[in-house]
Amino acid sequence: MSNPLAHTLKPSSLLGFSISKQLQFKRSINNSTVYTRSNSRRRISHYPSLMASLPGAPTTEKDAVSIQNGSTQIEPRPLQVAKRLENFKTTIFTQMSMLAIKHGAINLGQGFPNFDGPEFVKEAAIQAIKDGKNQYARGYGVAEFNDAVAARFRKDTGLVVDPEKEVTVTTGCTEAIAATMLGLINPGDEVIVFAPFYDSYQATLSMAGAKIRSITLRPPDFAVPIDQFRSIISKNTRAVLINTPHNPTGKMFSREELSIIASLCIENDVLVFTDEVYDKLAFEMDHISMASLPGMYERTVTMNSLGKTFSLTGWKIGWAIAPPHLTWGVRQAHSFLTFATSTPMQWAAAVALRAPDSYFEELKRDYLAKKAILVEGLHAVGFKVFPSSGTYFVVVDHTPFGFENDIAFCEHLIKEVGVVAIPTSVFYLNPEDGKNLVRFTFCKDEETLRSAVERMKEKLKRK
Ligand code: GLN
Repeated sequence: MSNPLAHTLKPSSLLGFSISKQLQFKRSINNSTVYTRSNSRRRISHYPSLMASLPGAPTTEKDAVSIQNGSTQIEPRPLQVAKRLENFKTTIFTQMSMLAIKHGAINLGQGFPNFDGPEFVKEAAIQAIKDGKNQYARGYGVAEFNDAVAARFRKDTGLVVDPEKEVTVTTGCTEAIAATMLGLINPGDEVIVFAPFYDSYQATLSMAGAKIRSITLRPPDFAVPIDQFRSIISKNTRAVLINTPHNPTGKMFSREELSIIASLCIENDVLVFTDEVYDKLAFEMDHISMASLPGMYERTVTMNSLGKTFSLTGWKIGWAIAPPHLTWGVRQAHSFLTFATSTPMQWAAAVALRAPDSYFEELKRDYLAKKAILVEGLHAVGFKVFPSSGTYFVVVDHTPFGFENDIAFCEHLIKEVGVVAIPTSVFYLNPEDGKNLVRFTFCKDEETLRSAVERMKEKLKRK
């Protein structure tokens, strides 16, 4: 066991979880660097940090307690955490939203809308509460909602699934991800991820004891380096984790990319876990579900949620769709993680998923207008903007402004310009891979987006 005090002292812990990535070894494959991380050996990264600027970021138990309860006074003690999570600190989204508040900055960081979800869904939740739908839901979901998930999946993908045996309702997609990893991955199993990746993937893979193999997607198009993928996938691979449309880049996996990944997964008997929470925010091409490719349904867990599609990120309603033999593992983990998810919200979510096509069309239209404001604005400010096909994110290269890395740039952006973006280095096993890139979100009202662009035009100067 490492010295727990080191935890409070090492500078690498200041940025939060993934800057202090521990790289067990790196080696070259087809001229690309592959990073593999094991959970047993740890080495400190010297990548810089933003955490120091956080208001009251706790480093001791005393700090943590007094934040929760101003009057409590106890002797300071080092924070404690199990080894499997010792490198994972406050998520970058929480860090950046706290900094936005502290500095009065416009928050184009964390991906939550600053506008409300639709009335018909909110009304359905109120009605469900009034109707007394307030006790535990069935563990794997309220039957009406499981039905609605299956019906939506059929409409979107053409696949017919059994709502009773193949749909598991979870507390947001984040729980679906955790339940999938914990329910289907054994310690030591190899799992391939594409960097940059959403932060919870690495944390939950770490909880499951997986050996993470990361393949970096690079700008401008973030295409899958197929030769590298082919050289890494093997009979030792348990699963490949994909995310399309992709957070943070906005990349959408093309049919060609999905087909090659699919055929290599079939050849090597590998599972696919696919996070498709931005499927309704597909702007430049049609979204393709991996499960719909020939031979793939039987080896795929498809994860999704209500939050992005209905601008209700705080409801935390998600689900996993998988054939019965994989659903078993997901449900076993889910049963002991959360057991069941909010009952009235599931009733309302069933109404949401049965929304008419016009709802989804309007959502896309609204987001296209927002996207245009942000993307044109970022070009005008002087960023190199990479094309985003889906999601409500866009990634830019900040180097025209002369900062050493994404952390330094974001720090300047918050303190001197008054805008928050997300540094992307936290989404890589090797933070250096993301040092030139930052992510902005356009899930904010148009006035907010315009004000952020104005601030940047006025105060950001190219070097
Ligand atoms: N998915 C959101 C984003 O990428 C954040 C979710 C969270 O804060 N955990 O911004």
